Amino acid sequence: MNHPAFAPALPVRQAAILIVDDAPASLGLLQDMLRSHGYRTFVAISGERALDLAQRVQPDLILLDVMLPGLDGLETCRRLKANAATADIPVIFVSACSDTEDIVAGFDQGAADYIAKPLRLPEVIARVRAQLNFRSASQSHTQQAARLRMIVEGMDEGLMLLGQDGRIQYANPASERCLGYSETELAGRPLAALLAEPAANDYAAYFDRRAPNPDPQGGDAVPERCRGTREVLLQQRDGSLRAMDLSLSPMASGEQLYVALLHDITHHKQSENALQRAALADPLTGIANRRQFDACLEREWQRAIRTVRPLSLLVLDVDHFKLYNDLLGHAAGDQCLQAVASTLQAHALRATDLAARYGGEEFVLLLPDTPYGGAAKLAESIRTDVERLRVPNPRSTTSDFVTVSIGAATFVPTQFDDIRSLFLTADRAMYEAKAAGRNRVLAVEGGYAWEAMHRALAR
Ligand code: GH3
Ligand code: MG
Ligand code: MG
Repeated sequence: MNHPAFAPALPVRQAAILIVDDAPASLGLLQDMLRSHGYRTFVAISGERALDLAQRVQPDLILLDVMLPGLDGLETCRRLKANAATADIPVIFVSACSDTEDIVAGFDQGAADYIAKPLRLPEVIARVRAQLNFRSASQSHTQQAARLRMIVEGMDEGLMLLGQDGRIQYANPASERCLGYSETELAGRPLAALLAEPAANDYAAYFDRRAPNPDPQGGDAVPERCRGTREVLLQQRDGSLRAMDLSLSPMASGEQLYVALLHDITHHKQSENALQRAALADPLTGIANRRQFDACLEREWQRAIRTVRPLSLLVLDVDHFKLYNDLLGHAAGDQCLQAVASTLQAHALRATDLAARYGGEEFVLLLPDTPYGGAAKLAESIRTDVERLRVPNPRSTTSDFVTVSIGAATFVPTQFDDIRSLFLTADRAMYEAKAAGRNRVLAVEGGYAWEAMHRALAR
């Protein structure tokens, strides 16, 4: 980390030292010596004065004589440590009494060091320098920790620290926002418990493998799936799910800790889904477009082969639509197509049924698991419902109103059938319905199995 934000704090001024001593001789000696080493000095000859000065000038270090008239050194030190404004200033006791008890009493009051009189000047300087270095290092650590805390608490990404067991030890405010839980509610919870399947299982297995006695059954693929960044669904406190990128990495320290980063991708997902939906929808009518129909047909065709179930397709074309458009205009034509699309969509009753605009004024309805009879009935119902819309088509030679011709085809496909045959059969039936007078349904049954059965029966 070479960024200035992580650099240790540079001393902005020469260190200031407060000398507290009631004996003018040692006070003068210390002051001269410290000044000659470039330190700034302040002096006090009583405990009371020292407390006042320390609070006002905030020295970097206090050299405190133990034997003082009035408030003695030990009591002065106790009061310095009891005051938040002076508590962090290191205190070095200076005293002629070098009994162990005195020294221990000094440390008990929070002293950082102890120098015995008579003063040996090089030792004083060495101890002063050591304390100042220690204070500067600990200040820069505190500063760095404060900076890091500010970054972690201010970041938009969720950041959590996990133990080796995958349980949360720390969660920043953004993770609380991501998940709707407070930090205390998150603490101790396994990360896996916040995830929806299949990630929940994977992460639980990942941390199981890091446990002291890992499950030998855990597959090798699991760690691969959990390492680095992965898109997961996180369970909110209110039960709703949110899409997030989850990055998991072990900390490069001796401690067995893991860092989990959460990046909310809900908006990204929403626009991705909206784009996907737009790419699959017909802009005029809002029903599926040809691309979605083609993909769905492929899927359902394969499923019908596997399950040996009938797959039906209706192909629908508006009768005399050119005349309608020519007389009433393109905008009215568009509205008419929307009305026909809604009628068709209203007949796509099962979740697997798909109504789509194939192009122009031609529509399709794919009906998985629907036999010939059901498809023919449905087609007839669509035909009558369009007629019942009673949209006038004055120039039509078939009816006073907009009508449709529908071809229906039903296959129980096998791997010997060509997927194109379903559409071609239904489309041909639709043209036959046109030729037979329009505003009618023509349904046919086809497919290799059907033809083979008929051939066998004919023999
Ligand atoms: P038929 O009964 O034989 O189907 O005759 P038709 O007039 O319906 O058939 P044709 O294929 O001759 O004409 C189709 C018309 O559909 C021509 C075209 O202008 C119109 N059309 C195709 N797409 C749209 C569209 O998106 N909006 C509008 N308003 N008209 C469209
Ligand atoms: Mg037409
Ligand atoms: Mg047409």
